[in-house]
Amino acid sequence: MRIGVLAGRAKIVTSGRAFDIADISGRRFGPEPMAVYEAWDDFVAWAATADITSAGPAEPFTIDKADAPVPAPRQIFGVGLNYRAHQLESGLPEPDVPLVFTKFPSSVTGPAGTIDLPGDQVDWEVELAVVIGRRAYEVPADQAWSHVAGLTAAQDLSARDVQMRPAGTPQFSLGKSFPGFTPLGPVLVTPDEWVDRDAVPLSCAINGEETQSSTSADLIFDVPSLIAYLSGILPLLPGDVILTGTPSGVGIGQNPPRFLTDGDEILTQVGDLTMRHRVAARR
Ligand code: ZN
Repeated sequence: MRIGVLAGRAKIVTSGRAFDIADISGRRFGPEPMAVYEAWDDFVAWAATADITSAGPAEPFTIDKADAPVPAPRQIFGVGLNYRAHQLESGLPEPDVPLVFTKFPSSVTGPAGTIDLPGDQVDWEVELAVVIGRRAYEVPADQAWSHVAGLTAAQDLSARDVQMRPAGTPQFSLGKSFPGFTPLGPVLVTPDEWVDRDAVPLSCAINGEETQSSTSADLIFDVPSLIAYLSGILPLLPGDVILTGTPSGVGIGQNPPRFLTDGDEILTQVGDLTMRHRVAARR
């Protein structure tokens, strides 16, 4: 099943058509997207038996009109240096435990559109994003997937100058939380729909030139390990988002470093999900 959001309302998306969850469920679920995640187990049980495609009128689902499939998560976690080649390009030692930071929810945006550049050191990071469906607290890795609503595509845009300051005690959360710095989408795809949920291909291209290409099979800490680690510390709530880390090929790893400039196009690909953004210098 694929979940998308149009005009603030949660939709089931199938073959490019969007069915309004509140309408087809007789108002039992939605329309508010976060309310669907809050009732995830009941919603999935209902959807398994509902006759969705004959349930009512559908509208076209296009990425230009879509909001993030998770527009207002309560918590967003990011993981640093979680692909070995990216850890090597950063010049930092391999972590023994996940390196976790937060991204503030006001940074979430949809799968297409224009994102303002707050400076001249903004970098791209394609990532596989995990969305929690069932509250997870002290969940062991072998039970972690049952707490996942689905996976989606993400960018973890990063203003490297702000992220790395002050020297010696860098502030990742702020450097990665400018408005528009967490694009998600275009839809959430439930774990059963992936060819291999533990080996999802992901790539990023800037102005048509591929900069990153990998698979989530190369994660140092995989999805179950991240959920076990985080949920051992605090509860993960329905609709929470975990950005699992970025592979090598970010701009700051190039020699000389390369950053996004006015008019650049970012193409983000995770499995069969595509996001397309343009960046614009602040005027
Ligand atoms: Zn990242």
